[in-house]
Amino acid sequence: MHLKLLKSNGLLFFLVTMTLSGFAQMGVAPGGSAVAATSEDSLLIRRLADTILTDGRTYGNLRLLTKTVGARLSGSAGYYKAEKWGQQVLQESSADKVWLQECMVPHWVRGGKDSASWVGGGGAAGGGSAAVGLDVLALGNSQGTGVKGIRAPVVLINNFDELEQRRDEVKGKIVFYNYPFNPLFVETFRAYGDAVRYRGAGASRAAKYGAVAVIVRSMSSSIDNTPHTGALMYNDSFPKIPAVAVGLRDADRLAARIPGHQIDVYLRTNAQMLPDTLAHNVIGELKGTEFPDQYITVGGHLDSWDPAEGAMDDGAGCVQSIEVLRALKAIGYQPRHTIRVVLFANEENGGRGGRKYAEAAKANNEHHLLGLESDNGGFTPRGFTLSLSEDKLAAIQPWVKLLKPYGVYELEHGGGGSDVNPMGRELGAVVGELRPDSQRYFEYHHARNDVLENVNKRELEMGAVNMAALIYLVDKYGL
Ligand SMILES: [Zn+2]
Repeated sequence: MHLKLLKSNGLLFFLVTMTLSGFAQMGVAPGGSAVAATSEDSLLIRRLADTILTDGRTYGNLRLLTKTVGARLSGSAGYYKAEKWGQQVLQESSADKVWLQECMVPHWVRGGKDSASWVGGGGAAGGGSAAVGLDVLALGNSQGTGVKGIRAPVVLINNFDELEQRRDEVKGKIVFYNYPFNPLFVETFRAYGDAVRYRGAGASRAAKYGAVAVIVRSMSSSIDNTPHTGALMYNDSFPKIPAVAVGLRDADRLAARIPGHQIDVYLRTNAQMLPDTLAHNVIGELKGTEFPDQYITVGGHLDSWDPAEGAMDDGAGCVQSIEVLRALKAIGYQPRHTIRVVLFANEENGGRGGRKYAEAAKANNEHHLLGLESDNGGFTPRGFTLSLSEDKLAAIQPWVKLLKPYGVYELEHGGGGSDVNPMGRELGAVVGELRPDSQRYFEYHHARNDVLENVNKRELEMGAVNMAALIYLVDKYGL
């Protein structure tokens, strides 16, 4: 067992093993500068991991956020409570400075319970003349139906090509987009990227041809019937029609009943968009010793959808980012560059917090080395993406050896998440994100079951370990 591990992990495992057994304290001289750096880095990363995995606050902070704050959509009372939580936790984590950055955000409210049912199709399974309930959630930013609701025949549309072909059939109808979350994409974020256009643009595209509402099959790989909400963007050229998400089982039942039958759907949603309101990014930092005017940012988004606690999305990214700061401070590490933790406002239905942070940094002429984000769930870490050129990416590949003992096995080319991407555009900063295992994320994403109980403490902490390690390496070696 030991020999096998030694063989497969090579030098690194040797160093880590020796560290654990006190080898380093025995004063064995390293062989050369590169090895010395590796050994020193390996030791420091081990100390970061030790504090995160033993006396860390990652999971405890997530428990507080999810159970005492809960849902925190932009403009809601929960969001302002979350701002207070963020400030307090950053202070308790020994940030040198904590502050709020003002940001105007959209203020969308669900306005009560959404309801839907369908009738028609005959037969016992179809319900005959009895209405069959649908479990729905209004899409974020959507307009409600009004108190009377909407009743109209439903048209099954499998994709936008079919919508174009059948555009003369949708006037006065409710369009039901039943586009599947493609199981052939092993990386589930690709399936999400492929399907999410029906949520984002489906309402306006159907409204263009006279549809009165849309129902969208949830972007999920789940086998349950939980509907998954998320933002839509209306095209101002067309009427703003109501839109809901439906769970996969209801979607399948409805789709199976429609061919050859007239099915009427009744929808009632109460949503409305209120005027923009003031909210804040919550920021904490550790001052750099050598380059205090150069910044490394790590963050997640503080807002979350209203039906749940936002544990995965993105409580996990927030507490991991805070833990990076806490752990660096706890082991007495003095960063060369200033390290900032940002809990971004309004990622879910506007992206205003991320844009505001980058705009303010640009206005202040700040130099940012890296914007790193965690917004892909609190699952076992697998890798990081970074927006580096091939040459630069090749130059940092030796870091993989340092991260591998903690689960990250690749640093690959890619963008950041939506909160840090503006830093790339506005500031020319390198952006990147943590890539955890993606197989279970879309069971919980934007759904009622995005709760603490579905986050594994250990997996969450391992994400924080790898983020802290990467931030340390960037601080030490640059990018
Ligand atoms: Zn998110």
